[in-house]
Amino acid sequence: MDKGVRFHRRVPVMQTARFFEWLGSNLPRMQRIMVPLLLFCVGGVTLFVYWTGGIKFVFSHSMYIPVLLAGFLLGMRGGAVFGLLGGLALGPLMPIDVSTGEMQSTLNWLYRGGFFVLIGFLSGAASDSVQSYLRHLHWAARHDPATGLPNRIALFETFPASPADRERSKVSALAVFSIENRTELKSAFGLAVLEMAVGQLAQRLQEIVMDEARIHRVDTELLAVLLTGTDSGDIIERVEELRACAQAPLMLESIPIHVDVRLGYVTFDALLQKPETYLQEAEAALIEARDKVRDCASYSASISAVTRENLRLLGELKDAIRDGQLSLEYQPKMVLNTGKVDGVEALIRWNHPQRGVIPPEIFIPRAEQSTLINLITRFALDEALRQMARWRRQGIEVSMAVNISTRNLLQPGFVDQVLRLLDQHGLERHLLELEVTETALMVEMERAIAGLIRLSETKVIVSIDDFGTGYSSLQYLHRLPVSLIKIDQSFVRKLPGDTGAMHIVEAAITLARKQGIQTLAEGVENREACRFLRGMGCDQAQGYFLCRPLAADTFAAWYKENGGHIHV
Ligand code: C2E
Ligand code: CA
Ligand code: CA
Repeated sequence: MDKGVRFHRRVPVMQTARFFEWLGSNLPRMQRIMVPLLLFCVGGVTLFVYWTGGIKFVFSHSMYIPVLLAGFLLGMRGGAVFGLLGGLALGPLMPIDVSTGEMQSTLNWLYRGGFFVLIGFLSGAASDSVQSYLRHLHWAARHDPATGLPNRIALFETFPASPADRERSKVSALAVFSIENRTELKSAFGLAVLEMAVGQLAQRLQEIVMDEARIHRVDTELLAVLLTGTDSGDIIERVEELRACAQAPLMLESIPIHVDVRLGYVTFDALLQKPETYLQEAEAALIEARDKVRDCASYSASISAVTRENLRLLGELKDAIRDGQLSLEYQPKMVLNTGKVDGVEALIRWNHPQRGVIPPEIFIPRAEQSTLINLITRFALDEALRQMARWRRQGIEVSMAVNISTRNLLQPGFVDQVLRLLDQHGLERHLLELEVTETALMVEMERAIAGLIRLSETKVIVSIDDFGTGYSSLQYLHRLPVSLIKIDQSFVRKLPGDTGAMHIVEAAITLARKQGIQTLAEGVENREACRFLRGMGCDQAQGYFLCRPLAADTFAAWYKENGGHIHV
């Protein structure tokens, strides 16, 4: 159907719906004004009938007007009462003929009164059912059907509107809670469990805020609450209290389930913007918390600017790939015992025409939340393999590691795509290594592991990147079909001075060796770290101390100059 036609048809429907909603919410107020008016109306009709000569005249039928109106406005009981009043006024008190004073028979006025009561009652019954339907519509528009929690419309209506409301609370905060592991919960236990988790979390938060505020469900996995406090210190304390309470595991059918909750909030002391804008700001703070891997963040104007800028950037990414703005740099990996450079890691760079070089941390995490990551990975794989084939022709034999995201692993046909590219460039499978970060694996672990198994069966090397940053790395290592773990730089960079880091690195190396998995330490920044790692039995190293990431030609020159070895 033509868009314009659809739009015009929708407008009257929306206006009618709005009118009924308005009617529903204003009816109680109208009722208060209408009672004296209806009484006046009944009196007026009585006088009018008397003045026109008495009950025998057709004018007596005008009594139906106040009776019907009373039913409509006051419901069944009101309609019946006004029917009785009208019946009495036009019954025993009203002569048939004013000029002769002849009164009507009892049966006649009983019949007349009974009929008025019936009409008032029926019009009231009809009005009551319409009103209850309107109340239902009003409720449904403001509540989430699955959990019965108030929704975002209801939230916006709770924003303090009048100056009197503002006086009572000096500072307000809108806090948004997100269930971060929703995909994991949904895939492991089904949608019903996610709904239960949302419901339980809301109940728990409600117990903290008590009657003072209500918890609203503003999106599938988002809860929000509008808090008020005396000053900003007070409000931050209360947000912190909610955050702490949200972290405890939830009980689902007496099984404790880990629910990863993150929180973003915005504080304000005067209502200067629309409630929708405050919600957007709280959500922007939530994204900031996610990006910085923190469980809570508050909104500041710079966050919004950064979010807008990043979203704009993401919009340009597709064209950037097409226009050749993306390129790869290669960082050598060294075998610790021999000093031989036997591989490189391909690291993506975006050379933006206006902003210059944009580091991958800016666009990769966001691209990973959309299908854009598939384009990026395809580009990186294709370019890296082409480069490997080119180097091979120049006599440089190195393996190539490419970073991929879990989303790629879950993408149907990904393994075939990798194999096709290898064939296209005439390269053996064991020369390609795919790095998957540990934290990304945790999100949809079972499906991701299935993807890893498919890959490892093809002889392509799989490695776990940033090892040690996920929360249960050591426990599940035996289940992963991987050939190499890359110990995260956050530990390696502290070597050899930091005892905690030393213990973690040592544990990772020992554990991996027991499982027949190779280890690589990334972020090696000094000679001492290199020595320590060699002493620990770590297999490979990578880091600025050995070599920074280099452009393809620079790497080729560097490799030839050093004979494919690093002497440390
Ligand atoms: P990563 O995979 O952990 O890559 C290592 C990062 O550490 C690189 O940063 C590298 O330049 C840097 N680095 C290497 N040695 C040292 C060192 O000794 N000290 C310090 N401080 N840093 C060192 P880069 O290139 O900015 O990449 C950042 C992250 O972006 C990568 O972390 C990876 O997760 C992601 N990334 C890069 N390229 C791609 C890609 O093509 N696809 C995907 N999905 N992710 C990519
Ligand atoms: Ca990597
Ligand atoms: Ca890494």
